[in-house]
Amino acid sequence: MAAYEYETHEYDVVVVGAGGAGLRATLGMAEQGLRTACITKVFPTRSHTVAAQGGIAASLGNMGPDSWQWHMYDTVKGSDWLGDTDAMEYLAREAPKAVYELEHYGVPFSRTEEGKIYQRPFGGHTTEYGEGPAVQRTCAAADRTGHAILHTLYGQSLKQKAEFFIEYFAIDLIMSDEGECQGVLCWKLDDGTLHLFSAKMTVLATGGYGRAYFSATSAHTCTGDGGGMVARAGLPLQDMEFVQFHPTGIYGAGCLITEGARGEGGYLTNSEGERFMERYAPTYKDLASRDVVSRCMTMEIREGRGVGKDKDHIHLNLNHLPAETLKLRLPGISESARIFSGVDVTKEPVPVLPTVHYNMGGIPTNYWGEVLAPKDGDDNRVSPGLMAVGEAGCASVHGANRLGSNSLIDLVVFGRAAAIRAGEIVDPNSAVPSPNMRSVEMALARFDGLRHARGQVGTAELRLEMQKTMQDDAAVFRTSETLSQGKEKMEGIATKLSDLSVTDNTLIWNSDLMETLELANLMPNAVATVVAAEARQESRGAHAHEDFPDRDDENWRKHSLTWFKGEEQKANLGYRGVHTNPLTSHNDGGIDLKKIAPKARVY
Ligand SMILES: Cc1cc2nc3c(=O)[nH]c(=O)nc-3n(C[C@H](O)[C@H](O)[C@H](O)COP(=O)(O)OP(=O)(O)OC[C@H]3O[C@@H](n4cnc5c(N)ncnc54)[C@H](O)[C@@H]3O)c2cc1C
Repeated sequence: MAAYEYETHEYDVVVVGAGGAGLRATLGMAEQGLRTACITKVFPTRSHTVAAQGGIAASLGNMGPDSWQWHMYDTVKGSDWLGDTDAMEYLAREAPKAVYELEHYGVPFSRTEEGKIYQRPFGGHTTEYGEGPAVQRTCAAADRTGHAILHTLYGQSLKQKAEFFIEYFAIDLIMSDEGECQGVLCWKLDDGTLHLFSAKMTVLATGGYGRAYFSATSAHTCTGDGGGMVARAGLPLQDMEFVQFHPTGIYGAGCLITEGARGEGGYLTNSEGERFMERYAPTYKDLASRDVVSRCMTMEIREGRGVGKDKDHIHLNLNHLPAETLKLRLPGISESARIFSGVDVTKEPVPVLPTVHYNMGGIPTNYWGEVLAPKDGDDNRVSPGLMAVGEAGCASVHGANRLGSNSLIDLVVFGRAAAIRAGEIVDPNSAVPSPNMRSVEMALARFDGLRHARGQVGTAELRLEMQKTMQDDAAVFRTSETLSQGKEKMEGIATKLSDLSVTDNTLIWNSDLMETLELANLMPNAVATVVAAEARQESRGAHAHEDFPDRDDENWRKHSLTWFKGEEQKANLGYRGVHTNPLTSHNDGGIDLKKIAPKARVY
């Protein structure tokens, strides 16, 4: 192996990722005087959060009655009773505070006539514990909410003197022999130098792994790097079988049309021009939750009522809405529809198809963002020195299915929670741990091995094989047959990582090597997804298993855990219990547990 030199940096906290979650954590850490570094492979405001359109959920009640208890109920029901109750309570309770903080930091929210934050309806968000009409809970900055949040948080983080390391690629976690995280090894993309960041706390905020699939709304940078690093460190991934398909990806391009479009009154039709959601979800219709709408669309297409010459997609109608509303509330998607499908939304329907959008699963954490590594029967054992927030993490508030606009709120609530917790447990006066040299050597050796890989398979070729397999065999509907076939195929595909060929072995702007590192991260995420899906013999949330069409709370109300041994690509499965206790009792103003007891999920 070539000898590598690296520069060492010491911090109290190092945050990997500068999306909404990473920036909110960075800002909170820096505000408390912790020396904080934020590392990101893309410029902060280019993180995928910038693409979030629809908005951020919080029960402000600006447009009608609302309460955190109703928000919590909707989240519990949305999760199909797989979310952790304590974390879901924390999310719903803290949401208004977190949104007002964003407002005070300077996020330019859209406004009502009286100057309050504008809120729109979104799928699965209701009143009266699912008995009342849809609620307007989703706070929005037109249809560019993520963009507004990201720019504001980046500016505020700079003001608090957080230090940014931009276009640095985190390769691997540095772990002590006892399993404590001591920081991260990085590659600086523009000059090829290596950097070891030693820290008392490492926070993974690396986003989702949508790019494990062929058609996804997420950016090409969403490659599950945090999950990959965690898997290699011998720590588990949780609930990976739950992958959200968004009902309205633009047919062909995959770009997202926000659910806010249906929130503002848009609706879906089949080839007969029928508003078919009225048949499947009589109460909330097009605003039923995402897994439900995606399945209904797929059923319409399967039964021959798809639109287009191949009858393989669905129409989203917005042309009945006043042109003024489209211009004011949905300017970005009007533009996307024009560019990516050539449609003028004021005149024609948009061709859409369910498209991979969000990963409910990820690195297991408690509601402080501390990573969990269950051991010896202790389901809630914390893995020291490591946190995970945002889409990379799994707190778990989304359980088997996430409600629209509940991710942006998850980013800021748990980014903030991680900072509060770090303020309690990280001592600014203590010494930074000296790195375990064995772990550093292993990370360097893996990097060097991929850099000089001289096998038979090209990175792009193997990535495509993985993406097509995931798209075919771990889709909206799954069967025992597709899943066992998918599992076998993915385990075979994953072994080809050792037969990769990297043609460019320079260190400066080597996109071939970077994409190879990303593929090596996507792979354990993909394998974990199909392995956990194959094992789960029920249907719950986004996991629709045709051979087991019902939810089975008795046997399956539990989180799946997937472990890898070293660089082996075979996943081992385990489970941990769902937290069913809330943070506060009903007598202290908490939710009435009877209200959130499991029941059939209908919209
Ligand atoms: C098109 C689209 C629209 C959406 N709209 C909404 C919405 O309206 N409301 C809502 O609630 N949710 C929405 N979502 C979901 C939500 O936006 C995402 O879940 C969320 O933005 C993820 O944020 P994050 O901070 O976890 O990660 P990201 O924003 O994806 O950021 C990841 C960060 O990690 C860094 N990173 C990753 N790997 C490495 C590495 N190896 N080394 C260094 N840095 C690394 C990247 O540079 C980046 O800064 C939408 C998602 C999409 C795709």
